[in-house]
Amino acid sequence: MHKYVYYFGDGHAEGNAGMKEILGGKGAGLAEMTNISVPVPPGFTISTEVCTYFYEHDKSYPPELQAAVAENLKRVEQSVGRALGDAAQPLLVSVRSGARASMPGMMDTILNLGLNDTTVQGLAKSSGDRRFAFDSYRRFIQMYSDVVLEIDKENFEHELFALRDRAGVKTDSEIPADRLEELVATYKRIVVEKGGREFPQDVHGQLWGAVGAVFNSWNNARAITYRKLNQIPDAWGTAVNVQSMVFGNMGDDCATGVAFTRNPAIGTKSFFGEDLANAQGEDVVAGIRTPLPISNAQALEGETSLEASMPAVYGQLVEVYKKLESHYRDMQDIEFTIQSGKLYLLQTRTGKRTGFAAVKIACDMVDEGLINHTEAVSRVEAGQIVQLLAPVFDAKEKAKALKGGRVYGRGLPAGPGAAAGRIAFSGERAVEMAKEGPVILVRVETSPEDIVGMHISAGILTSRGGLTSHAAVVARGMGRPCIVGAGALRVDYGKGELRAEGHEPLEEGDWLSIDGSTGEVLGGELKTQPSEVIQVLIESSMKPEDSETYRNFDRLLKWADEIRTLAVRTNADTPTDARTARLFGAAGIGLCRTEHMFFAEERILRVREMILARNEEGRRKALDQLLPFQRGDFEAIFRELSGMPVTVRLLDPPLHEFLPHTEGQISAVARDMGWGFVELRAKVNQLHESNPMLGHRGCRLAVTFPEIYEMQVRAIFEAACSVTQEGLDVRPEVMIPLVGTVKELQILTDMVRRVAAEVMKERGTSIEFLVGTMIEIPRAALIAEKLGETAEFFSFGTNDLTQMTFGYSRDDAGSFLPEYVDKKILPRDPFESIDQEGVGQLVKLGTDKGRAVNAKLKVGVCGEHGGDPESIRFFRACGLNYVSCSPYRVPVARLAAAQAELEFRHSEA
Ligand code: PEP
Ligand code: MG
Repeated sequence: MHKYVYYFGDGHAEGNAGMKEILGGKGAGLAEMTNISVPVPPGFTISTEVCTYFYEHDKSYPPELQAAVAENLKRVEQSVGRALGDAAQPLLVSVRSGARASMPGMMDTILNLGLNDTTVQGLAKSSGDRRFAFDSYRRFIQMYSDVVLEIDKENFEHELFALRDRAGVKTDSEIPADRLEELVATYKRIVVEKGGREFPQDVHGQLWGAVGAVFNSWNNARAITYRKLNQIPDAWGTAVNVQSMVFGNMGDDCATGVAFTRNPAIGTKSFFGEDLANAQGEDVVAGIRTPLPISNAQALEGETSLEASMPAVYGQLVEVYKKLESHYRDMQDIEFTIQSGKLYLLQTRTGKRTGFAAVKIACDMVDEGLINHTEAVSRVEAGQIVQLLAPVFDAKEKAKALKGGRVYGRGLPAGPGAAAGRIAFSGERAVEMAKEGPVILVRVETSPEDIVGMHISAGILTSRGGLTSHAAVVARGMGRPCIVGAGALRVDYGKGELRAEGHEPLEEGDWLSIDGSTGEVLGGELKTQPSEVIQVLIESSMKPEDSETYRNFDRLLKWADEIRTLAVRTNADTPTDARTARLFGAAGIGLCRTEHMFFAEERILRVREMILARNEEGRRKALDQLLPFQRGDFEAIFRELSGMPVTVRLLDPPLHEFLPHTEGQISAVARDMGWGFVELRAKVNQLHESNPMLGHRGCRLAVTFPEIYEMQVRAIFEAACSVTQEGLDVRPEVMIPLVGTVKELQILTDMVRRVAAEVMKERGTSIEFLVGTMIEIPRAALIAEKLGETAEFFSFGTNDLTQMTFGYSRDDAGSFLPEYVDKKILPRDPFESIDQEGVGQLVKLGTDKGRAVNAKLKVGVCGEHGGDPESIRFFRACGLNYVSCSPYRVPVARLAAAQAELEFRHSEA
């Protein structure tokens, strides 16, 4: 019989940490903790396979599930010595979701299940605390009604607030027992009114209702959005964990909390967490009350930490966290409950962290001997490393702002980095306003409905909630600067104001600056300055020994370099970009788009003269004047990249892109060139193409006007000779774009070799160089075995290749692609991450065909996909030699290439 349910309890579990796929993250963690003798309340996990079955079978369960749940429930009952529905000793359970990847707050949870009108009396008696029993019952009715019966929780909260007023108390914990008992009666009436039936008294029915609701919540709108933003496949499904309850709300020797074994925002090695005394778990995560710090080190003046209030349990907690960290050899994010002075762990998982923290923790753990270099490399999400390059506030400006009284308040630094933008008070307004410029989303607290607004904002600020509140957790995942729990700030949605004592209120649209590394909220727009990594590496304005961030960045990437086989080059058209990329570790240029050099002021006129010339002679005259400019550019780039390959692509875009279009532009150019307006406009019209991307561009231009490429090749080789004569090592690779036939490539390769030979002869210098082609037209990939006989390298131009394979215009597809992704017609935007199924086939096929006739053929990618980690994984598997990406993506690509290598080796083994 297939196993669908896995028990954990009494020091033994049927699952373990390696079974995340079927137990989900939470289930696997509970099993593993049980196995290593960490105190965990007993329970069982219904596997993700049941979720898959549920959705494939019209929301029904496998036939054997009922019996398996009953059997495991019995084991829990025996372990705890209570039974579900027992009138005297009732067992209460929690029912929680738990997918393979954590999806904080996105799915549903139910606590205190098993209470009804009879068992609540049993709980009151057996706990000796009537207030606690009815408090648990009213919480359960509200949660169950919200999640399973779909009765809006507002209905209940409204009654709770009214009761507080009537009783003249401020907090729920002051409401006396008999008032709570009345509240339960009111709640049950609401259920009848709004739900049309009595609140279910059958505890087993309650259990199945909750299990179904959790499975259903896998497909609620916010879970779907979260999966999309985080690329979590819909097919994974969630597991359901049913676990005996422990109570953090049974009195002052009880508490519930969450903690990280290291600081998740900046990575320092300090135990870091928050708890609420006399509360239930959801109160902490929901960010409803601002929790207290866990350790004395973390506590601010006037705050009592858990360490101070319950030193003995804190001691146990420290022991457990150390055990978990050394067992998992990674930073853990834990949830715990203290019931009457006894500690229980309810969850452990790999802690989400910022890019900053990830790099620091990986390097520290290497130094501590916990992990090796390879593991360190796989611990940092490649895309996250760009956070280390993000700007910080200009130090001088910030000091001035601090002195000048522009601090509106302080909160907890939850996501490092500096952000300035205009205030938006809701997710929807943030989305609207972000079209006009950067936005800071300001909320009392955020909830899962805000994620789209959070995603689009430059920074996030909340006045309530701790470091594990929704805002903090989500912002960290997104790499957004974020401050939470800035308690001195008053966010007034009604008036649309942010108020702070001693300051004029700020309104929607006013500027605000937040420093997510320190927690300072500053009025106005603060300028930023480059990150420490940039200051050390690119600007040399800081010394490596003064920046730990830089040193860790450098170490990690060097470890990555030891692993990877894929080279990383850059797409650069200027000496400055080439230098930046080299400093970031690029191994040369994979694409220098020469047309970008044509746009500078004094050149564009010559380019226009060339294009508009009446005959070849006129064209050559203009080209002669362009030559020195091009030569100068190439010289500067070759000097920057001595010893490295520099792939120069000959002119690619349609000529009319350089032409004046509006009447105003045409008359200005006509004046410049001494032409009549009418004559020039006629010429421009004559050059107009209805489909320029598929028109007279790339190598097609050179077939009809060879003198353009001749000039460019001359400039390349004159520059190469000069720089070689300076004693530097120049390695040009000349690339012909948009080739679709063998003849095009042959004609133009011959031309390149002829002009190169002429120049080298004139200069008495010999240079080693390659001539190759871009593969960006599907036909080129299909005839690659023929192109491979002429070309010395292939470079896949995956931008055009994607455009032409799908038939989606690169410039216009933005209007419908988001909807395609929404409707799951495509998994991702194919211009962002390579379409492995289709375009990818052409890359693989082209590479294999080319190599079949030319074993030495160098193959790379120079489309945008060269900087995308997922695409890089694919290119490694295809056996490419290099990827080329923009300078600031080079560190990402180095790390991604190493991770791709590890994955490839793993898949081969
Ligand atoms: C490409 O098409 O992928 C490419 C790199 O060339 P461009 O983006 O300049 O068309
Ligand atoms: Mg192209």
